[in-house]
Amino acid sequence: MAQYPEPLEALIRELGRLPGIGRKTAERLAFYILKQDEESAEQLAGAIAAAKTRIRECRICYNYSEDEVCPLCADPGRDRATICVVSQPQELWKIERTNEYHGLYHVLGGLISPVEGVAPEDLHIAALEERLKSGEVKEVILALDPKVEGEATAMFLVRRIRPLGIRVTRIALGIPLGRDLELADELTLSQALRGRSEL
Ligand SMILES: [Zn+2]
Repeated sequence: MAQYPEPLEALIRELGRLPGIGRKTAERLAFYILKQDEESAEQLAGAIAAAKTRIRECRICYNYSEDEVCPLCADPGRDRATICVVSQPQELWKIERTNEYHGLYHVLGGLISPVEGVAPEDLHIAALEERLKSGEVKEVILALDPKVEGEATAMFLVRRIRPLGIRVTRIALGIPLGRDLELADELTLSQALRGRSEL
């Protein structure tokens, strides 16, 4: 059986390592890239390299940022009495797009999962507790997936935060209502933020 030239095979292999991209899709993308002019291909490669070298984690909230402290943490207009806890930066941006929330964030970098071997020490939980010691924060909103790992993480955080005398509330992320409409999704999330429940 004939084989692809090695550089093409390598491109397919690398694309196929991306989440949600199977072998067939990787092949389609690789052939598409080859068909483009050299400049477009360089732009793509350059964008990947630039994102990887120029983006880092904010040293306060672990959101992705070009600076040591992200624009959200640096913004004096944000409500410093509230911290919304999410597992990944994508979820932070999902909440930002609702325009409903004006406090600060904290990105955990994952969820506690004994099955996948993710322990509390593997997440940015100690850094969150450090932030709460300042006494400035009055409420922590947990915006975690309502699945098993999200539940486990929420319970762990409640046990750690409540003794500090800080209010802990919760909204559910990933509610299926209106899933295919980005706007409906934001609406649902806005409602979830307003109707958050005490833990
Ligand atoms: Zn930040």
